[in-house]
Formats: sequence, structure tokens, C-alpha cells
Amino acid sequence: ILGIGSVVENTTGAKRAEQERGRLLREAQEAVRVRDDFLTIASHELKTPLTPLSLRLATLERKLERGEPLDPAALHHARQHLTRLTTLINDLLDTSRIESGGLALHPQPTRLDVLIEHVIHVTETLHDAPQRIAFHLPVRPIEVLGDPYRLEQVISNLLENALKYSPSGGPIRVSLEARGDVVLMTVSDPGIGIPSDQQQHLFERYFRARNVSTHAYGGLGLGLYICRDIVARHGGSIWVESEVGRGSTFYVALPTLQASRALAVPTPEPR
Ligand code: ADP
Repeated sequence: ILGIGSVVENTTGAKRAEQERGRLLREAQEAVRVRDDFLTIASHELKTPLTPLSLRLATLERKLERGEPLDPAALHHARQHLTRLTTLINDLLDTSRIESGGLALHPQPTRLDVLIEHVIHVTETLHDAPQRIAFHLPVRPIEVLGDPYRLEQVISNLLENALKYSPSGGPIRVSLEARGDVVLMTVSDPGIGIPSDQQQHLFERYFRARNVSTHAYGGLGLGLYICRDIVARHGGSIWVESEVGRGSTFYVALPTLQASRALAVPTPEPR
């Protein structure tokens, strides 16, 4: 009986090992597929601004050679494509930094209201979208202990997405308020919205929801992944509420300057 018992056990063990091998193989195949898909998308995304950029530069060069006046609109478009390219490359670099140990933060007392106004101005100028982003300044200054460069990246990313995924052109609304120990920023758009079963995955690396696959919206699926890392490293959190066809609101909660000082979050790192 003992002999039969150990044969049954061995068979069950072998079956389990076989199942485990199958699972690992499927996982590895899925990882390779995700990587290959990503490389295809990334190459396409990097090429997209590059082609019009080199065409614009060639035209400007010809005009310069002929002594003709330069068209400011052409220069502006060249800058738009260059900015898009820079953002894509920075997102790729940041992703590999996060994967290999995390982004370095250089926190300092930062006026979030001033930073938001600045990013709104830069974004509207870049997209030729004057007054499309509405922001009512809070009654008093709102400060956090944060890395201004990285926080700017979060705000910029949310605004870029709000504009990109609202093709109807409706207004984007930004709000900022301090509630007790927490600073809450929201970015709301009247755009395409996100299917509810996909919302939990939005902040994962490479994730692009179903809402974009049917339309020609470019992107690498890295922006929100980087945002989540930055916000988490500031001791905060980021989440979304959204409805398909009605729009989305992204929330960013961060500790106030006083709360960060009391908790000593985040720890400054040497430059
Ligand atoms: P990307 O925009 O480059 O695809 P992100 O990481 O910024 O990457 O966003 C991940 C996905 O989340 C997008 O592909 C899109 O499906 C969805 N998403 C993000 N922001 C919005 C928004 N404001 N409205 C609708 N969908 C959004």
C-alpha cells in the first residue's frame, strides 16, 4: 500500500511540475510577445514626429539658402515634433530607470499652484490651444515637499492625456485644494473615457486601454506608469474615475509640506 501511495504521490508531483513548466512557458511567451509588440509600437511612435521634423527642417534650410523669410509657424511645428520626440525618449529612459532601482528625487518646498499655472501655459502654447485648460487659483498658496521637475512631469502628462483623449475639444478643468494634511489635484476632461474593467490596469507599464486601440491615438503606455511611480515616491497616490463617452478625472493626492516635514517623506537624495 505504501508503494502504491508513493507512486500516486510521484505521479501527482510530476503532473504538478509539468503544469508549472507549462505556466512558466506561457508566461515567457507572453513576455516576449509584449516586448515585440512594444518594440514595434515604440519604433513607429519615434518615427512619427521624426519624418515631419526633418521635412520642416529641410524646407527651412532651403528658405535660408534662398534668403527667403522664415515662417514662424513652420518653426513652431518643428518645435512641437521635437518636444514630442524628447518626451518619448525621456519616457523610455525613465522607465528603464524605474526598472533598475527607481527615479532619483530632489525634493524641495514647491508651490504646486505656481507649478500648475506654468505647466498649463507651456502645454497650451505647445498645442495652440489657448484657454482650453481652466484652472481657478486656490485662495492661498499650496506647497508640497517635492521634486519640481518630476511633479511638472506628472501634471504635464495628465494634461497631455486630457487633451489627446478629448478629440471633441471641450474644456479641460484642473483643480487644486488642501484638505487637512493632503493636497488634492484633479484633472478632468470631457473625452472618450475608459472602460471600467480596464481602469485598474491604467498605471501598469505598456498598458493601453481598449478605448485607444480603435482610434488613431499614438502613445507608448508609459506616461501613467511613470506618474504613479513619481507620485508614490512623494508619499502620495494617483487614481482615476471615468465613464466611457463622458470623460475622465484623474486625482493626485500628496502630503502637504507640513505633513511631509512631520513624516520626513520623501528622504532627500544627494545630487
Ligand atoms: P499613452 O497615452 O502613451 O498610451 P499613458 O500611460 O499615458 O500612455 O496612458 C495609458 C492608457 O490610459 C492610454 O493608452 C489610454 O488608454 C488611457 N488613458 C489615459 N489618460 C486618459 C484620458 N484622459 N482619457 C481616456 N483614456 C486615457
